[in-house]
Amino acid sequence: MFENKVAVVTGGAKGIGKAIAEEFRKEGATVCVIDLLPGGYFVGDVADQTVLEQFARKVIADYGHVDYLINNALPLMRGIDACTYEEFNYALRVGVTAPFYLAKLFMPYFAPGGAIVNISSSRDRMSQPQTESYTAAKGGISALTHALAVSLAGKVRVNSISPGWIDTDYTVYDGPDAAQQPAGRVGNPLDIANMVLYLCSDKAGFLTGENICIDGGMTR
Ligand code: NAD
Repeated sequence: MFENKVAVVTGGAKGIGKAIAEEFRKEGATVCVIDLLPGGYFVGDVADQTVLEQFARKVIADYGHVDYLINNALPLMRGIDACTYEEFNYALRVGVTAPFYLAKLFMPYFAPGGAIVNISSSRDRMSQPQTESYTAAKGGISALTHALAVSLAGKVRVNSISPGWIDTDYTVYDGPDAAQQPAGRVGNPLDIANMVLYLCSDKAGFLTGENICIDGGMTR
């Protein structure tokens, strides 16, 4: 479905981002992952402006255009008791500033039919104690999605996904209890990757500015 398409995935070395990258590859896309972890297309911290500029330059030098931008890198979670000024800003740089700046850097290079998918969280609407940096980043990315969708309407579609509990390394320390989930299970990375590919496909050609919550009924 995605032959000759170029998909950029931030935080694509593990967890949900890895599943997104794998599903795109299965469908024939070329995938450019940027992650802190080594081994992928580009190793770097999306919180760093220079890194984002180097990364975008490399993608365009290598492929000349971009079709899909998936902003998925995981922002730091710190609560008001422990979170420093620097940590709070860092979470926002990873979770909000990087998605904004990558959209801006790639804007002139999006092919027709291009799409951005931002990975938010059900915590954009339902917080828990001591999660301020993460919750603020997720509220920010959900709001940024609406703003970008309007600014880029007719050129690039922009949607977000709010996952609930998804089984990844990140949720190990977050402690989800599958038995407490309305669906009787937590989600898996493929539950999210499937929706990312749908949102990028022509089947979602009139869908923009929307947030899709995938949480097995947790917030309803
Ligand atoms: P994960 O820890 O399995 O993977 C996160 C990836 O992001 C890692 O490869 C990590 O190296 C990379 N990353 C982190 N900071 C980075 C940075 N500054 N620059 C570049 N790469 C960076 O986490 P996950 O569960 O797959 O989370 C992926 C996304 O899904 C995140 O945005 C997270 O907030 C969101 N999400 C996850 C859940 C869940 O339950 N797992 C729920 C809601 C939302």
